[in-house]
Amino acid sequence: MKTTLAELAILGGPPAFVEPLHVGRPNIGDRTRFLERVGEMLDRRWLTNDGPFVKEFEGRVAALLGVRHCVATCNGTLALELAIRGLGLRGEVIVPSFTFVATAHALQWHGIRPVFADVDPRTHTLDPEQAERAVTPQTSAILGVHVWGRPCAVDALTAIAKAHRLRLVFDSAHAFACSYQGTLLGRFGDAEILSFHATKFFHTVEGGAVVTNDEDLAQRARLMRNFGFAGYDTVLTLGINGKMNEMCAAMGLTNLEQLDDIISTNLRNYTHYRRGLANVPGVSLVTYDPRERCNYQYIVLEVDEGRAGLERDDLLEVLRAENVLARRYFYPGVHRMEPYRTLYPQPALPGTQWLAARVLSLPTGASISPDDINALCGIIALAVTHAAEVRATVQRRRTAMGHPAD
Ligand SMILES: *Cc1c(COP(=O)(O)O)cnc(C)c1O
Repeated sequence: MKTTLAELAILGGPPAFVEPLHVGRPNIGDRTRFLERVGEMLDRRWLTNDGPFVKEFEGRVAALLGVRHCVATCNGTLALELAIRGLGLRGEVIVPSFTFVATAHALQWHGIRPVFADVDPRTHTLDPEQAERAVTPQTSAILGVHVWGRPCAVDALTAIAKAHRLRLVFDSAHAFACSYQGTLLGRFGDAEILSFHATKFFHTVEGGAVVTNDEDLAQRARLMRNFGFAGYDTVLTLGINGKMNEMCAAMGLTNLEQLDDIISTNLRNYTHYRRGLANVPGVSLVTYDPRERCNYQYIVLEVDEGRAGLERDDLLEVLRAENVLARRYFYPGVHRMEPYRTLYPQPALPGTQWLAARVLSLPTGASISPDDINALCGIIALAVTHAAEVRATVQRRRTAMGHPAD
């Protein structure tokens, strides 16, 4: 545990961690069970195309989330695209800018304009009032994102969608096994989409799903996922190759058996971070409502420069020097990335800007121990205690490296 300023790596001390600590290290379930399933798959010689593992996987996910249909896909972005096409979205769709870029890309890829509405900086999710103000005659849907697994204002968005006759889709990529008012996410709106990417709470290496109670949508998504094939020679619609394969489903079935373990590890880490950062001025941990179910997959800080005496980017450099590879999700906001910054006038999104300047995601998961977390929190506390010196050092380093502060 570092206790003096001079020990910080940024001031020349040795890094606190020999191996880098990453955000989003994959959770690996029971290896033996996985390899058994791979053996079964090889014996069957059925590797893809709606195989038995994919069917079993879809059944389990639907049952777990309490939703009628689960259409598994090769990734979450493709699942978004199937939902977008399957629901006939067009024109404009209202989305937050404070999200992973794929949420907007999936729309733009289909010639739909993502209209960025602001988030509520307290919840980090779409502000329903702002979403409603963005409705125009071209709007076909609202696409909300359950950022960090914290649910959107589902009821308010549902009412707005209904009042304006819009479709409502949720990007639930962060929110597997998280609830809204006690009900697991996955069955709200017209559809929700899941990502099972390796960095997500629950993964299939790469994968995703459309989950919905809408029978027609599920059927269309299944058709489109497999080139539009309805039989050996019958193609009914424009389609794509969006299938999940058996290997990924085998990983998914195995990891499903481990959900409770992953959640308890994440919760343990979250509790340690909360304790470790409780008394650090200007650094607050994004908290999860204890009345909801949550996967606790994201450890997110908000750094208040005024109170901490450090900017988020200063703290980022302090941590990088210690071999802690913290990330600035979601900086700078999708509306400031290409192609959106060139295609569309810059929208005024004060909540998004405010958040994008202060958030920092920290490592968690099974590969980080409570001792690591205590050491990491100690470093943050030490940096804030000596904010002025740390800041001066960071600025000197930036100038020396030719990166003037932005
Ligand atoms: C990961 C993610 C996606 C994309 O999922 P992939 O499986 O990587 O294609 C979409 N939206 C959000 C919010 C995500 O975090």
